[in-house]
Amino acid sequence: MPHTVSREIHLKSRPRFLPSREDFEIVEVPVPRPENGQVLVRNLFLSVDPYMRGQMVEQARANSFALGKPMDGACVGTVVESKRPDLKAGDYVLAEKSWRELYLSDGSELKKFEPDGLPVQTWLGVMGISGFTAYLGMLEVGKPHSRETVFVSAAAGAVGNTACQLAKLKGCRVIGSAGSDEKVEWLRTHGGIEAFNYKKVESIEGALKHLCPGGIDIYFDNVGGPHLEAALESLKTFGRVLLCGMISKTEADGRPFPLTNLNLAVRKRLTLTGFRASDHLHLFEQFSSDMRRWIEEGKIAWTETIVDGLENAPDAFLGLFRGENLGKMLVRVE
Ligand code: NDP
Repeated sequence: MPHTVSREIHLKSRPRFLPSREDFEIVEVPVPRPENGQVLVRNLFLSVDPYMRGQMVEQARANSFALGKPMDGACVGTVVESKRPDLKAGDYVLAEKSWRELYLSDGSELKKFEPDGLPVQTWLGVMGISGFTAYLGMLEVGKPHSRETVFVSAAAGAVGNTACQLAKLKGCRVIGSAGSDEKVEWLRTHGGIEAFNYKKVESIEGALKHLCPGGIDIYFDNVGGPHLEAALESLKTFGRVLLCGMISKTEADGRPFPLTNLNLAVRKRLTLTGFRASDHLHLFEQFSSDMRRWIEEGKIAWTETIVDGLENAPDAFLGLFRGENLGKMLVRVE
């Protein structure tokens, strides 16, 4: 049977904590031409996300990535050849078939979409799960009121940056922390976020006390660790913590930082709420329509860091843990 060739990135070995370049390998595999009921899809952009680390590491998980196979994550592709009546060549599709150039599908895992005047990769970022996570956490869980003070960590990242802008949209004062002067400058000039470089301040707690002597009402936590400890110190009585992610735990040995001041949650009657976007997908349509409208009205901006070439996907992924992305980290496949 005639076939074409696709390059894929496979997980070669399981890291203990954070993978290195050597844990991945690039391989060429034959991909058959579609038969009746099938389509051939070419990936255009892949999303690399912090959560993928957990599926790569040694500890067995129900959804661990298999060794010797490409890893599944969000991607945008275009139909190259179709033997299905509902899809034609040139259609754009969303799927969870990343870390590869081409794949054959029976259509069941594909979500056809219209870019609707926005770049196709936007559906992996601000219009995709990153934007949805920010929307869900900040608006549905956090429910910020006008004039409240909101602190966001990893504020120049995909989720963090949208979370900052949503809080601004609700009339809040927003403080963001980020790991470089370039990110801080970007936050200040794009949306009026009062940002600081957490790697340069004497302490995060000191920076928060200096910026918000009256305390903060909401902390949107993307990183955990020292940021969370500092925020607990700065939160007002009845403050809220929105626990989105704990990327900083991989810094040391892969374990979460032990919190030394959780007693403050009792003393200040704080509410700490963990949330996962995947539990609330019934709100995705509502999010899509709200976010689309805010983008059209110029109320939400976004940025991306695009790494070119499938072969560079491991570096793009590892770059998330080195803070190399401003906005959503993406891989352009070709
Ligand atoms: P980002 O675009 O924010 O990229 C990760 C950023 O984290 C880096 O750019 C870096 O920014 C920062 N970072 C990395 N290591 C550290 C560290 N040790 N301490 C402090 N900051 C660090 O990624 P996402 O927007 O995709 O994800 C943000 C968070 O949201 C993650 O924790 C992720 O797991 C979580 N998440 C949760 C979801 C949910 O449903 N709850 C869904 C999606 C994501 P800097 O230069 O500022 O250090």
